[in-house]
Amino acid sequence: MNLKIGVIKGDGIGPEIVTEAMKVLNQVGETYGHSFDYTQLLMGGASIDVHGVPLTDETVAAAKSCDAVLMGSIGGDAKTSPWYRLEPSKRPEAGLLRIRKELNLFANLRPAVLYDELKGACPLKEEITEGGFDMMIMRELTGGLYFGERKTVEEDGVMTAYDSLTYNEKEIRRIAKRGFDIAMKRRKKVTSVDKANVLDSSRLWRKVVEEVASEYPEVALEHMLVDNCAMQLVKDPKQFDVILTENMFGDILSDEASMVTGSIGMLASASLNETKFGLYEPSGGSAPDIAGRGIANPIATILSAAMMLRYSFDLDKEADAVEQAVLRVLSEGYRTIDIMSEGKQQIGTEKMGDLIAGYIE
Ligand code: NAD
Repeated sequence: MNLKIGVIKGDGIGPEIVTEAMKVLNQVGETYGHSFDYTQLLMGGASIDVHGVPLTDETVAAAKSCDAVLMGSIGGDAKTSPWYRLEPSKRPEAGLLRIRKELNLFANLRPAVLYDELKGACPLKEEITEGGFDMMIMRELTGGLYFGERKTVEEDGVMTAYDSLTYNEKEIRRIAKRGFDIAMKRRKKVTSVDKANVLDSSRLWRKVVEEVASEYPEVALEHMLVDNCAMQLVKDPKQFDVILTENMFGDILSDEASMVTGSIGMLASASLNETKFGLYEPSGGSAPDIAGRGIANPIATILSAAMMLRYSFDLDKEADAVEQAVLRVLSEGYRTIDIMSEGKQQIGTEKMGDLIAGYIE
């Protein structure tokens, strides 16, 4: 296949970790006979330095012309960076919010994987996590409470704030379909999370999810109330495959799920639109505290590239090869500083990329 990938290296550790992910992708291309054509795109602080704004219209157009976008991270140290003396709409993060909107990225995917090799980093008891766990949080990203009407008014001398939570059936159907599609590529189980005992929006959510489920007879569907889900994530995380949920519940649950896995340097993510297009990025930020030192963990970005292979390009075998290479490097005891533990061998960003690329089979 010939594929066009937009690359936003970004700020801080972004260029270091994206370079390693590209190294791994190039090896995948060589081993499996694909060619990846990269278009470098500027966003965040790097774009402010050149264009005075965090994202230009030309960059948006160039991103839209690609099959998918791979991103590092953007932003700097808010206390010391001159980018944060600009008004909020001109700061690095404004570029990220705009590109998500421009590309209509309504589905956010965050895998939470506990590798047996890194179980020491997990704050849960060993008997709960024995053998590791592997779940995917699928969060609706452009609707619900965060995008509803809001106002603060004085009523009878009392300050009163309103936030409205709205979902229509189309918004629910498109994210549910995505969730079931993803489950078909995994262990074929969807846990749909809502608060249907209280909220109308959740009752509609549940009804539409059930309709969509009927189109996927191979996938097992269960419903779970959000408060129970928050509990189950720490009580028995192994039960989950795909967790499908709305915007605010997903915001909270995905952070909870990622905390129980340990290091931020291991967490991949993807945001998808209605086509196969997606923006793939590590869950962490630009880590200005360690930028330029060659010690950042590139694995989250490499695993994000694997997600790109799987979900935008349907190259499942190639995605498996990347994930297997990461597992092999970890099982041989190689660690970057953030996941280092006694008796293991500490290596830097570039060496980690070299080893993973070298193990692509
Ligand atoms: P951060 O994730 O950048 O850093 C938090 C801690 O985790 C730091 O100690 C950092 O060194 C460590 N860390 C993060 N990624 C790592 C990696 N790959 N390897 C090793 N250690 C890693 O969060 P922060 O410090 O709150 O934010 C720094 C900047 O990143 C801010 O400007 C913030 O706005 C931005 N940010 C960007 C994104 C994004 O681009 N999507 C996301 C979150 C934060």
